[in-house]
Amino acid sequence: MADGTPGNLAGRVVVVTGGTRGIGRATSDLLAQAGAVVVVTGRDEVRVKTVAAELSEANGVPVTGVAFDVADFDAVGAAFKAIAAQHGRIDGLVANAGILDDALIGMIRPGLVERLLATNVAGTIATVQAAARVMMRKGSGSIVVLASIVGENGGVGQTAYAASKAAVATVARSAAKELGPRGIRVNAVAPGLIDTEMIAHLPKTLVEERITDTALRRLGDPADVARVIRFLISDEARFVTGQVLGVDGGLVL
Ligand code: NDP
Repeated sequence: MADGTPGNLAGRVVVVTGGTRGIGRATSDLLAQAGAVVVVTGRDEVRVKTVAAELSEANGVPVTGVAFDVADFDAVGAAFKAIAAQHGRIDGLVANAGILDDALIGMIRPGLVERLLATNVAGTIATVQAAARVMMRKGSGSIVVLASIVGENGGVGQTAYAASKAAVATVARSAAKELGPRGIRVNAVAPGLIDTEMIAHLPKTLVEERITDTALRRLGDPADVARVIRFLISDEARFVTGQVLGVDGGLVL
């Protein structure tokens, strides 16, 4: 990046996990608009390649796609090695891939907690590790992980998901301490309710209640979160690390 502004990430190689939909796709789009060399990931090979081609076409910069499951530790390591070999560096990671599976405490099925933790927590740690290994070679980098307002305040039916997102916030704080001396910043964003496929199953009445509880009186748009992530990835945030930044329109849970 020549001048450190969010609008200029020219040449920066940034990996966005879960970049095929929602917040990840909006982030990939904004980063590509700013000139970054974006690598979009997800589990579905066809979707990953399609989205990468669409973002390349729309922004006139090369966007590539790599398919792997963030819950598969070995696959994450292999994918980041291949990305580093192809691009020679990794400057940014947006560890965005995540899943939601709501259940009241009495209804939590066997395996639900493990599944949420495997993707949201172990998957985040695996990608942070894999990216940090590459970033350490150059002694610089910026990582953003996706926490949630629910991880801070809890939510009905969200005991397991909230626990996973609270853990993600602590990943940012710990990794920031450990990687700061190596020139790598690590921050989290904690979105409120954002209008993506992830929340499509929520009853309309609950969504309306949440909008009433939000100071800005609307749902978040994926781009609302993407803009903050772009800032944190950029040198504009060069003295910001270990933070969990709410992007929730003033939602009080
Ligand atoms: P979406 O469900 O719209 O998109 C999730 C993305 O993650 C998809 O690209 C999906 O691709 C990918 N993904 C899911 N599981 C895996 C996996 N195991 N390995 C690799 N990729 C995976 O989610 P959102 O955009 O809404 O959410 C993005 C992040 O923001 C998540 O971490 C979420 O918890 C967090 N968040 C969202 C909020 C909201 O209100 N929407 C609020 C607070 C936090 P594929 O399925 O093809 O693998």
